[in-house]
Amino acid sequence: MTTAPNREPVFDLPGQRETARSKLDDLAARTGRRPNIAMIVMDDVGWGDFGCYGGGETIGAPTPNIDRLAARGKLLTSAYSQPTCSPSRASLLTGRLPVRHGILIPVMYGQPGGLADEVTLASLLSEAGYVTQAVGKWHLGENVESQPQNTGFDDFYGFLSVSDMYTEWRDPHFFPEVVYSGARSEWIRNAPFNKCFVHAERGGDLEEVEELTIPALSTLDDRWCTYSEEFIRRMAGDERPWFLYHCTRGTHFDNYPSERFLGSSPARHVYQDTIVELDDIVGRLERTLAETGQLENTLIWITSDNGPEMDSWPDSGFTPFRCSKGATWEGGQRVPSIFVWDGMIEPGQRSDGLFDQQDMFTTVLTLAGAEDRVPHDRFIDGVDQSGFLLTPGAESHRRAIYYWLQGTLSGIRIGEYKMMVASTSDDATDVAVRGSGFTGVTQRYTYPRFYNLYLDPREERSYLIRKLAYLDAFVPTMTAHLGTFATYPPKVPIS
Ligand code: CA
Repeated sequence: MTTAPNREPVFDLPGQRETARSKLDDLAARTGRRPNIAMIVMDDVGWGDFGCYGGGETIGAPTPNIDRLAARGKLLTSAYSQPTCSPSRASLLTGRLPVRHGILIPVMYGQPGGLADEVTLASLLSEAGYVTQAVGKWHLGENVESQPQNTGFDDFYGFLSVSDMYTEWRDPHFFPEVVYSGARSEWIRNAPFNKCFVHAERGGDLEEVEELTIPALSTLDDRWCTYSEEFIRRMAGDERPWFLYHCTRGTHFDNYPSERFLGSSPARHVYQDTIVELDDIVGRLERTLAETGQLENTLIWITSDNGPEMDSWPDSGFTPFRCSKGATWEGGQRVPSIFVWDGMIEPGQRSDGLFDQQDMFTTVLTLAGAEDRVPHDRFIDGVDQSGFLLTPGAESHRRAIYYWLQGTLSGIRIGEYKMMVASTSDDATDVAVRGSGFTGVTQRYTYPRFYNLYLDPREERSYLIRKLAYLDAFVPTMTAHLGTFATYPPKVPIS
């Protein structure tokens, strides 16, 4: 198939596309409307945290609700985010790599985001007649133009930044040098970021709901879940389809589980307590969909925005892969990804097909019958995976994963092979920082490193010399990928 010049090339697999189309047509005929989309995006949850990914009881944090949903849907083992929060969230909502939308690192302390001139999934769904609701963590910039109510959402109830910014100057255990210093406390209090969680309606001003003290912060996931439950109930009586973008506070450090969950996990640690709480929230949202009769017309997607944060250990998630959040090693970017859609997605599927969170942009537009709204004036990295999701035993439509370490192309994965030309070093000898994605330096390899992720999922044994033939696949793919930046210049300098 010839791909439009502004689109990532795909494996066409026409049979899968037809199956998806006919299932979607049947559903539309049956329900008289387009499907709802419920995205549950967690923060810094590791690939291995849920029971269905090998964690759960094994790590003292049972996740019965998520495991049950995974058994009822499709679980992906090779789904990828970006290495950190804001870049991932922007890529998910724009279908574009960070070097294209321009948000390369997490947005901190009132810094502007970069969504102002981007086209978001929410705005396109809105144009297609969807009601769009964002709940929870935003972290795409506090500037007015980047706020959710100005980037396609009808309503927003959450906070604009990231969990630790509200607490890292309030907790005397972790930050005594700030809490017990009047001058330092004042300095942070005067920093230009909103200290509250907020509510806003499309195009309107922010309304402050409550100041985020630590006790208030510990109630957020519960209250945000209640807000989403109310939205789901309200929409059951509405003719319009809806898009819920529910982003949890947990498990970004520092975790302060709500009273009900504090000490509730077998591990009795705050991280694992929070995983148990998030599992409960998934159960609550699913139950609300069931009670309101919306399960068969709603795609549920559960994921995390990056790998686990190891610098905050032991308040950290679990990944079996190398390194962690911040890195282009698998531990930084491989995330859980579970799709559930009763009657539409065959239950009990697991697939190692390649999936990039950017694919949600294009896939959801297809599900919404709005694929013709994918922009033509910019490069779109997301590919339409509706055929992969809706066809039993299907293959991924994605040919390659491109790993970017901020503005540096780090590597490419094709099939089970990954070629790396640059990475962040993670070979610290200090136990406290070993495995951190944030403590290394960017290193460019003299010869590419080449890993077989099936034989060597921890990327410890580069053996390019035995596999030179594969360069015939990797080099043209890399050249073609870099060529897209000549036609569609990136927003930031790249190397
Ligand atoms: Ca994150």
